[in-house]
Amino acid sequence: MEGRDKGAYQRERGHLFIISAPSGAGKSTLCQALLTHFHDLQYSVSYTTRTPRRGECEGKDYRFISLPEFERMVEQGKWAEWATVHGNYYGTSADDIENHLSAGRDVLLDIDVQGTAQILEHYPDSVSIFIMPPSMDELKARLEKRGTDSRETIKKRLAEAENEIRQKDRYRHVVINDQLEHAIEALIDIIRRYRQR
Ligand code: 5GP
Repeated sequence: MEGRDKGAYQRERGHLFIISAPSGAGKSTLCQALLTHFHDLQYSVSYTTRTPRRGECEGKDYRFISLPEFERMVEQGKWAEWATVHGNYYGTSADDIENHLSAGRDVLLDIDVQGTAQILEHYPDSVSIFIMPPSMDELKARLEKRGTDSRETIKKRLAEAENEIRQKDRYRHVVINDQLEHAIEALIDIIRRYRQR
């Protein structure tokens, strides 16, 4: 575990780290490992209109809101970014991010490629990282093993994955999640380098 010794008077803005990956590429596990390693890295809890999955906690995994609430926040300009992913709405609160960054806290965003493009417009210094599965065959195998999606859904996710992978060059870093431990090390190394600047 490591943190950042900033001294009592230092109040520089925090760094914004963005992680995107196709469904099934292991992003949740990797994000969890980063949050365990960097205890002062702030996970940005997204808002979504999708229904909670079993075991998900309100306020920890997501803030679950209704579509009218989501749309109201669109009208009020409350989102730093928002997108529809797999038929549901997801958004990142502009106030949440700004509060963390201005307090000097580093923030970790787990968002899709559409959201990343919007964040990069507002925060061009963000550190964007794309997680690649080792191959499409491996991704398919992982999705099937997960056992949470129907055959039809898996087909859809694979088509979406191909589309997302085509956009990987928009990211500053690409990490291949071939072996979990290696991918975690690579991510820790990237984040550490920016935090030490
Ligand atoms: P899931 O519903 O499986 O947790 O997430 C589905 C996808 O939505 C993932 O690719 C995840 O990165 C993305 N996602 C989660 N939160 C946000 C968000 O706030 N904004 C955007 N643009 N994508 C998000």
